Amino acid sequence: MTLKETVRRKALDLGFCAAGFAAAGPLFGALEEYRQMLAEGRHGEMGYLETGLDARNDPSMLLPGVKTVLSVALPWPAPAKPGAISGYALIPDYHRVVGDLLRELLDFIRSISSQPVNGRVCVDSSPVLEKAWAEAAGIGCAGKNTLLIVPGHGSRIFLGELLLDLDLEPDAPLDSNPCGDCSACLDACPTGALATPGRLDARRCISYLTIELKREFTDEEASATDGWLYGCDRCIDACPRNASPKVALYPGFEPIEELEKLTAAEILELTGSQFRKLFAGTPALRLGLRRLKRNARAVLEKEQRQ
Ligand code: SF4
Ligand code: SF4
Repeated sequence: MTLKETVRRKALDLGFCAAGFAAAGPLFGALEEYRQMLAEGRHGEMGYLETGLDARNDPSMLLPGVKTVLSVALPWPAPAKPGAISGYALIPDYHRVVGDLLRELLDFIRSISSQPVNGRVCVDSSPVLEKAWAEAAGIGCAGKNTLLIVPGHGSRIFLGELLLDLDLEPDAPLDSNPCGDCSACLDACPTGALATPGRLDARRCISYLTIELKREFTDEEASATDGWLYGCDRCIDACPRNASPKVALYPGFEPIEELEKLTAAEILELTGSQFRKLFAGTPALRLGLRRLKRNARAVLEKEQRQ
């Protein structure tokens, strides 16, 4: 087996459902789309997305001498029944889990490579065009809901990248249209955030409103959150590509039962220490109790109006 295939095999053994390799050159088309998104203001108040444009275009600014971007996908489980907290927030924080797995993969590569290897792990916290790298590495294609769809596994996945100063033969991008004439995600979105296929307007997206927006809601924003306490899974749940994932799920991704059952009224009663204990190790911990209570008030206001 070649070095590249040995690395891919190890990635799959670690629990990733897909791993692909891309040459670490500029991603011109993807950067143009990204600039367009910023120019149209579709990123809302996520000012951090306006930074690091040079690094987004040139991964050597993140790892000098980088030659290969290894892109991986790790599936996360659908909640047993749809709730008001996105399924990815009911499990351990993907930044840590995917990061730990990629560091283990880097150690493995170093152990089998005949030359010293420098690497950098990126999981949704560095200026990296994750989805574009995943497409370039041939592990999937973006669907109309803008999420990467991995063939056979869908879009209920976390992405991560391992930058390597190691020359590995790139994989070919997939030549497929994962959506065909389906429009289930567009129909399922309650806010019109996906008014144009493949273009998300974050300002209208419940995930953005309940997770990224730092300030209090306007009345219109509160009403748009549509019963969600953290995130929104509507377009993911609607997608037929997510119906039957083929891979065993990462064993550490057991949903936390107390979070699955948590109500808006109970959130309003939480103290700071109760919040920290309940959400310890999950992505929702970083939201903070103040904003979680903001979201809970919006949910209760909606319930009272009905
Ligand atoms: S996460 Fe929810 S609000 Fe955002 S695009 Fe998907 S369905 Fe629409
Ligand atoms: S729901 Fe249909 S249109 Fe939307 S991403 Fe999935 S396959 Fe594509």
